[in-house]
Amino acid sequence: MNIRTRKSLPIFVLLCVLVTVASCFALLSPVPAAASSGSAGAGAVVAYPNYKVAVLLVTYPDNPTKPTRDDHAGVWTGDYLDQVLFTNANSMSAYFAAESAGRVSVTGQVFDNAGQWYQVSRPVERSGRCDWSPYFNEVFTAADADVDFSQFNSVMIFTPMITCASGGTATSGLVPDANQWYGVTVMNSSLNTYPHHELGHLMRLGHANSWECDPPGILTGTNCKEYEYGDRFGIMGASSRMLSLPAPQKEFLGWFSPGEVVTVASDGDYTIQNYETNGPVPKVLKIPKARDASGNITEWYFLEYRQPIGFDYVVNTPTIQELGVPNGILVHVGSADSSQNAISTLLDMTPGSTPSGLDIFKPALQLGSGYSDPVAGVSFGMLSRNAKATTIRVRFSAASLCERKVPTVSAKVVKNTGRAGQELRYDVTVKNASVLCGQNSFELRTLKIPAGWKVTIDRAKKKTAILTSGQSQKFVVRLIAPRGSQLKRYSVTLEARMVKKPTLKKVFPLQPRVVR
Ligand SMILES: [Zn+2]
Repeated sequence: MNIRTRKSLPIFVLLCVLVTVASCFALLSPVPAAASSGSAGAGAVVAYPNYKVAVLLVTYPDNPTKPTRDDHAGVWTGDYLDQVLFTNANSMSAYFAAESAGRVSVTGQVFDNAGQWYQVSRPVERSGRCDWSPYFNEVFTAADADVDFSQFNSVMIFTPMITCASGGTATSGLVPDANQWYGVTVMNSSLNTYPHHELGHLMRLGHANSWECDPPGILTGTNCKEYEYGDRFGIMGASSRMLSLPAPQKEFLGWFSPGEVVTVASDGDYTIQNYETNGPVPKVLKIPKARDASGNITEWYFLEYRQPIGFDYVVNTPTIQELGVPNGILVHVGSADSSQNAISTLLDMTPGSTPSGLDIFKPALQLGSGYSDPVAGVSFGMLSRNAKATTIRVRFSAASLCERKVPTVSAKVVKNTGRAGQELRYDVTVKNASVLCGQNSFELRTLKIPAGWKVTIDRAKKKTAILTSGQSQKFVVRLIAPRGSQLKRYSVTLEARMVKKPTLKKVFPLQPRVVR
């Protein structure tokens, strides 16, 4: 598997270490001449259409122990890493091929020094950081007899734990004689999605962050804070989950086709397909969030409807289902400035959903709920959903999204006729027919009952339910006529009403019949 052709040894001029990704990638502009973009989205930047990764396995004379595989079936080997990175169904190659819809390929070769790994000195720590440049030069020198570096544009070094590097580190450098840019990643922890994450950095992606306020704040309020890595639903956040990249990052990379991102400029109800749908169908709503003094848009909302398909299959796992992701829309904020590395920020649309601690784990805006940003002058909410699509209402006017409506009621007769003293039964369904008003309390109670009759609603005299817009609940209504009642049809009147706005009510009769 080794390429023996001797080529010029890359002398690594280390520009930066990605402890702070943003400051590092600023140094990487301009993108090399090989740069091209798979799709011609405005500002799209792809550093390389094809990532050719030389994987070097490195260890140290003071402790040559090799790291344990994630499945604990032995230690890292060249073949194992080849599978994890390039050939498995969820390998780094498979992930980026799917995410980019074939625009980017990731290929590579593992060099393990015939199973011995390359032995070098550990990197020296300076001010809490690894001093990478001499380390990389030593690694490249050790591997130089095996690796034709001109065949690669990225290097991944897999090594036992280096204390001055966190689980993985991406960095970048220049090979002067070839005038060629290299991305280098150091992996020294369990693998999981780390290689994907670090290659994402080499593609100039920043971290997937989150924005969190104390309830009821979403964008503004008390204790609002941006959490680096806080988007726990994808590879660029603090996640072991291999979900799709958020829309701001995919757009930055130029991985959407025309028609896939719908830019909203006027009021309307917009339907988007689930985020994982293949082909040029609408699957992201992009709504202006902030403008500069000249009125140019500087930030956008990106709305995505995630369903358990492809690399998003994990949204169907119980833990993520409980977090409401497949039932709602994820709202990310992304910058319009494509000269920066792409940082995406996930908003917590259900603040206070976790009793204590960070509650960004339940981030999706839920069906029937609306969101307003008075500074941007925009509101949006999720009107309806099915397995394949969702419809989202967007308003730029000052008017609220919320339209309060009289609840709808349907009464299904289970048993309408019986003898006096016998229980009659009705299933009454009350629906919150309001649109995008969030949760309201509804009460079902009796208004008028014939003398001596016993009426219960779910075993009580009246019953209250908290319903989100569009949501409904069934109540069981039981009637018992007193002994000696006349044999005839009677009328029982009930009412369903919104507790806080009782004029929004629906009055309806039941017509039980007493027989011999
Ligand atoms: Zn990172």
